[in-house]
Amino acid sequence: MDWLEHRARLTPRKNAIIDEETDKTWTFSELNERACATANWLYARGTRKGDRVALLSPNHISYFDLLFACGKIGAIFVPLNWRLSQHELRAILADCTPILIGIHQKFEMLTPKLTSEGLSSFLVGETSYEKIVSYPINKVSKEPISETDPLAMIYTGGTTGKSKGVVLSHRAILWNAINTIVSWSLSMDDTTITYLPMFHTGGLNALSIPILMSGGTVVIGDSFSGAKAIESLQRYRCTIVLLVPTMYHTLIQTKEFEASCFPDMKVFLSGAAPCPLLIYEAFYKKGLAFKEGYGLTEAGPNNFYISPEDAKIKRGSVGKPMLFNSVKLVKADGCETNANEVGEIVIKGKHSFSFYWNQEQATQETVKEGWIHTGDLAKRDEEGYFYIVGRKKDMIITGGENVYPLEIEHWLSEHPIINEAAVIGLPDEKWGEIVVAFLSLKKPHRVEDEELRGYCESKLGRYKIPKQFIRLEELPKTHVGKMDKNKLKEIAINKGR
Ligand code: ATP
Repeated sequence: MDWLEHRARLTPRKNAIIDEETDKTWTFSELNERACATANWLYARGTRKGDRVALLSPNHISYFDLLFACGKIGAIFVPLNWRLSQHELRAILADCTPILIGIHQKFEMLTPKLTSEGLSSFLVGETSYEKIVSYPINKVSKEPISETDPLAMIYTGGTTGKSKGVVLSHRAILWNAINTIVSWSLSMDDTTITYLPMFHTGGLNALSIPILMSGGTVVIGDSFSGAKAIESLQRYRCTIVLLVPTMYHTLIQTKEFEASCFPDMKVFLSGAAPCPLLIYEAFYKKGLAFKEGYGLTEAGPNNFYISPEDAKIKRGSVGKPMLFNSVKLVKADGCETNANEVGEIVIKGKHSFSFYWNQEQATQETVKEGWIHTGDLAKRDEEGYFYIVGRKKDMIITGGENVYPLEIEHWLSEHPIINEAAVIGLPDEKWGEIVVAFLSLKKPHRVEDEELRGYCESKLGRYKIPKQFIRLEELPKTHVGKMDKNKLKEIAINKGR
């Protein structure tokens, strides 16, 4: 199960990790040695099987050191979202009660605020950390580790409410990686750069772990900027990259994008949130492969595959379920949908999470007979290609009709002067709910409501046409770049007061 050990034996001298900021590289042999040393150090500090070890850090090699070290001694790695407030971080720490917390020197000032009796900290990213990763390696006597033992706990973004600790076993992480490697044809020739935060499933599990398992190279990227990303994708000869739509938005608007070429890139992958079709177009115009994936922390995250060729034909589809997982679309009565009918995505597989930490009721509400009820809606065409329609809780019922915001958002984002669009439902006495559209416009353009309404009428049924258009300089996003619809609702409600 300690696949890093085997990988280090198979390809010891191959580059596993590169740090974008410093250009420092670590081979698989070095990565495994660091993990063994860190495991010994954690053990010497009293960390035992089942204990939680937290990390608060920007993207940094310590994520891999601690994840693999925890795996070696049966501890549970808990990466923390550094964009959260102190109050939120303290609530998460009170929930997962770690025995140790690694704090990157960038956040050192938070140490007294986050540590308490029973929780010691260690500094990451400076010289004392080097002592940890080069701690003497002697064989520690460990308890046996089984594949169902927890390996990591990732707190979800909380887009749908309170953040939940998603417990992922050794088996779940292993099978997400195996499934991804096989279904997406990853190999040791692949290189990716991770700009998505590594405390999130997108930065850690979606591509980084599968690429390392296959013997490929992961470049640790930190702060994202369009020009830097273009330069690094070329310099490191990346073959695959996963970014969220907002990052792609920035990338295609970067002036260097037009003249850039990416001869090594097999595919640009978008995930975590709906991707506007204009982003597809910008890539296709340059002859580049672009596609969208769908996933969630609780299930892998990866669940679908579409070839770049099919992605071009089936614009906006996330493809078909991967090799080693099962996906169904179910209606409210629990029956499976027919082609082109909307249903909830439910998923089963060895890549599934074990439970939500301290939240038994939420676990029972989400997992039924082994199937994860994702709360996401999708439809499947006659050929079996899936299209994400939106979140169940974002669906708007207006005058008794179901409206899926994504359809309206896609259409609005195709308007030449609209930069970004988001659609929400607001309670309304007459209609139950009304459709409200938020827009950010390309500068220096202006547009009247009448024109927007006319534009919508040319494509959408009457009941889907927004009753209000609210313009903002920039639309609010969550820490991983998803549209923050809770914030939008708050803004709309405050405006109506
Ligand atoms: P929470 O589950 O607490 O609300 P979160 O949304 O940040 O937080 P994640 O596991 O990070 O949780 O994200 C998974 C969700 O992201 C999915 O359930 C889905 O709603 C959305 N998502 C992922 N990929 C896509 C996609 N291609 N298109 C539309 N939505 C997507």
